[in-house]
Amino acid sequence: MLVNAYAAPSVGEPLVPTTIERRAVGTNDVLIAIQYAGVCHSDIHTVNGDWGPQPFPVVPGHEIVGTVVEAGTGVTRHRVGDRVGVGCMVGSCGSCANCLAGEEQHCRTGMVPTYAGTDRDGSTTQGGYSTHVVVDADYVLSVPQSLDPAAAAPLLCAGITTYAPLRRWGAGPGKRVAVVGLGGLGHMAVKIAHALGAEVTVLSQSLKKQEDGLRLGADHYYATSDPETFSLLAGRFDLIVNTVSADLDIDAYLGLLTLDGTLANVGAAPGPFTVSGFLLGSGRRNLTGSMIGGIALTQEMLDFCAEHRIGSEIEVISADQVNEAYARVLASDVRYRFVIDTATLA
Ligand code: NAP
Ligand code: ZN
Repeated sequence: MLVNAYAAPSVGEPLVPTTIERRAVGTNDVLIAIQYAGVCHSDIHTVNGDWGPQPFPVVPGHEIVGTVVEAGTGVTRHRVGDRVGVGCMVGSCGSCANCLAGEEQHCRTGMVPTYAGTDRDGSTTQGGYSTHVVVDADYVLSVPQSLDPAAAAPLLCAGITTYAPLRRWGAGPGKRVAVVGLGGLGHMAVKIAHALGAEVTVLSQSLKKQEDGLRLGADHYYATSDPETFSLLAGRFDLIVNTVSADLDIDAYLGLLTLDGTLANVGAAPGPFTVSGFLLGSGRRNLTGSMIGGIALTQEMLDFCAEHRIGSEIEVISADQVNEAYARVLASDVRYRFVIDTATLA
């Protein structure tokens, strides 16, 4: 099946309209008519070569919401007409210890990324900036009807990527949680941490988005460009979730943790961190990271968001505005996720 898409032809190049081939629907596959695809900073890192060479042309997009239009004979999880979602992963071995534990994103043989990955048939996966996609039904989520489909798309990456560390490291009543960076991931972290009952602080480069941050559920908001922020908040937080897409002085943030506090990194800046061993030891601080989440946890997150009426703050764009959207994300000028209306690809 030949479908319309937007692809980066080579590293750093603007995305252009193209057509791509989708595989025939297999026994355990579903064919999804895509309605919306979120624009994640990871799409931009990939296209710009921040993470090394990629199998160009690349059709990015791993925040996909659409409708099932065909289901293989072996599919029981989803039916034609269902509203579904696809995140960052479209396959894994399914039999290693991590897959069996519901941590498919940490599959021992490597999960299959939604784009720029190698599919089980050896072809290169192509993502959601397209009209249709064929996906193994085991990696397809149910998107509750009460969620707005466009605002739900970013949950498939930004939502699960922040929900997972917030749950794992105990964000909840009585916990002080800081979110570093108020972008796509950051604004979801604020909403989710607030819904979990934590006391939420945003640490942003400036106070430009303070009003938004407080409206989204933050209790406090500080500018990291002000050096006083770091002395004022020293030893304050139980959990810090770093969502920043650029290199950061991690030591400065470790200093904000309370005894036994945890800094969970989800940002995927290209450069390495330097970390002071003295700082880690002196407050028995924990430095860790998190990468998306397993399929069961992603479904739990979607159901949690439906229950708490949480969607992403979005700006819906047409496919031909995607290059402009990339430039705005890179300038930290996103409030707070661009979502492509894939009807504009027809
Ligand atoms: P985004 O919308 O661009 O948000 C990143 C935010 O970081 C910006 O809004 C900005 O917030 C802050 N920031 C940007 N440049 C900065 C700098 N030089 N210094 C300090 N702060 C800066 O990006 P996103 O889509 O949320 O993604 C964030 C990162 O997470 C990316 O690296 C992405 O690849 C990664 N990611 C990881 C996973 C995972 O599984 N671990 C999943 C998805 C994405 P302020 O304006 O508030 O300062
Ligand atoms: Zn993403």
